Amino acid sequence: MEGATVYCLIDENSRQWNSKLVDGIFIPGEAELVKKIPIARIEIEDSLFWPFSANGHYNCKLGYRFLKELDVDTDEDAQPDWDKKLWKGIWSLEIPIKYKNLVWRACRNSLSTKMNLTRRTIIDNPTCEQCSSDMEDSLHAL
Ligand SMILES: [Zn+2]
Repeated sequence: MEGATVYCLIDENSRQWNSKLVDGIFIPGEAELVKKIPIARIEIEDSLFWPFSANGHYNCKLGYRFLKELDVDTDEDAQPDWDKKLWKGIWSLEIPIKYKNLVWRACRNSLSTKMNLTRRTIIDNPTCEQCSSDMEDSLHAL
């Protein structure tokens, strides 16, 4: 299947999904979803289309707006009041910004710990070099 494309799943003559092939590759629920996707009656060249603009063209401004709306729907509304108060408390501490940044990055699990470097496939061993007894995640490192 390496190098296969969606086109392989379409019967050229009938311009319909090749049901037997789709059913053989996908689990039942996914196969039904695939077969519900309409196929163009005539063969046309594929093109990229950004569904959140009138003309289908993407630009950074539209992408930013899309992500911002997505962010509002997920993060802002879902963030509990106690969490907001905690972050306001951390950011209002009278300590150098680099320490606030360190706390923020530790809480967001974005420090360059061996666990995170392993997850990003930069290194292949997450074990702490200081003690060799545990994985080096943010909590362990601090
Ligand atoms: Zn250690």
